[in-house]
Amino acid sequence: RTHFLSLSLQAKMSRPVQARRLEGTDKNIWVEFVKLAATYSKVNLGQGFPDFPPPDFLKESFVRALSGENYMLHQYTRAFGHPPLVKILAQFFGKLLGRDLDPMTNVMVTVGAYQALFCCFQALVDKGDEVIIIEPFFDCYEPMVKMAGGTPVFVPLRLKAPKDGKLMSSADWQLDPAELASKFSERTKAIVLNSPNNPLGKVFSREELELIADLCVKHDVLCISDEVYEWLVYDGKEHIRIASLRGMWDRTVTIGSAGKTFSATGWKVGWTVGPNRLLQHLRTVHQNSVYHCATIAQEAVAQGFQRELELYGKPDSYFVQLPKELQQKRDWLVQSLDAVGMKPIIPEGTYFLVADISKFKSDVPDVPDSDEPYDSRFAKWMVKNKGLAAIPLSAFYSGAHKNSYNHFIRFCFAKEEATLKAANDILQKWEREKTSP
Ligand code: PMP
Repeated sequence: RTHFLSLSLQAKMSRPVQARRLEGTDKNIWVEFVKLAATYSKVNLGQGFPDFPPPDFLKESFVRALSGENYMLHQYTRAFGHPPLVKILAQFFGKLLGRDLDPMTNVMVTVGAYQALFCCFQALVDKGDEVIIIEPFFDCYEPMVKMAGGTPVFVPLRLKAPKDGKLMSSADWQLDPAELASKFSERTKAIVLNSPNNPLGKVFSREELELIADLCVKHDVLCISDEVYEWLVYDGKEHIRIASLRGMWDRTVTIGSAGKTFSATGWKVGWTVGPNRLLQHLRTVHQNSVYHCATIAQEAVAQGFQRELELYGKPDSYFVQLPKELQQKRDWLVQSLDAVGMKPIIPEGTYFLVADISKFKSDVPDVPDSDEPYDSRFAKWMVKNKGLAAIPLSAFYSGAHKNSYNHFIRFCFAKEEATLKAANDILQKWEREKTSP
């Protein structure tokens, strides 16, 4: 009898436990690099989050919601978004997009932009569908498409050499129009757009967006537009919403994040804005997975948007002040990197900056035939030996293309002055040790 039991146990345990759709998606760069940063870094410019507090008005809204008289804010709220939040988002984005939005059908609140993305892929992508992703890309797009049964099709931004002596800019990374057009076919269901782009900080121009929009209309393709860095654009550049271009409203889901918007990434409040014909299916995924996100956080974000609507475009607006402060931080980091020869690519938006590590290669020799891209080994070496954490650019490329641009690393500059100064000190010391015999 014991023998029989152990046999049947063995038989049970040999059966595969992992769902097939998870195949190839188990490795995650953030798990690895967040752990490395936690273990070794003195200065962490890796993962994208501010090390300064959110604005006081937002924290105060949260405290009021938490300890105020309306104790119902501690309970469930409407599944597709707390009514005050969807109402103000509809008003705010209605103004930006120049159309009347219905809070109940044109807006859905999610657990961060991350869950908004997940709902889009689950709701809109079928087995056999192709989804075009522009490289380099926020890494979760690829596994999310695959988990939905779709096939990612990659098209790269190509680096045009800048003029001699000039620093590179994220605007030097461009789509080749013919190459982009060649990726669209009758199998294409959607394209993912991320402007301003993580990791490069590229802000797509009107011309580039019109090119994408025309192809979407021509091939009847949907657009999943990740605009979480919408307020973080510099040097007077304009963030253009692809949903506002001709023919695009009906085929676009626009995604935003209170985490990025109000420097509170831990609150995990995000949203989608779009036509009901698309959002109704996102609601199906949402109601059958997380149902809704924390009521108090939604209430506080609603009040934050109320304030921003009243101050829209005025000097006191957080959406005016934050990019101003970040532009200065960007310029400090650009200077620090340029001074030591780690050539920065000046970002037009986001709080990320990609830099060329070629000059430092002698400190971290290449391993021929290694499976790991050079920049990844470099970033690991840097955090272990110099205490400075950054993310390799290859993390933002698909498997086959990880070696296309493998001598760049990404820094996050949404950091206190003291943090950026500490990074500068590390870079200066490293440079001195390199050049002195
Ligand atoms: N999209 C992009 C491009 C991002 O960089 C991030 C966060 N790093 C997200 C989505 C996820 O945002 P959230 O924190 O609101 O889930």
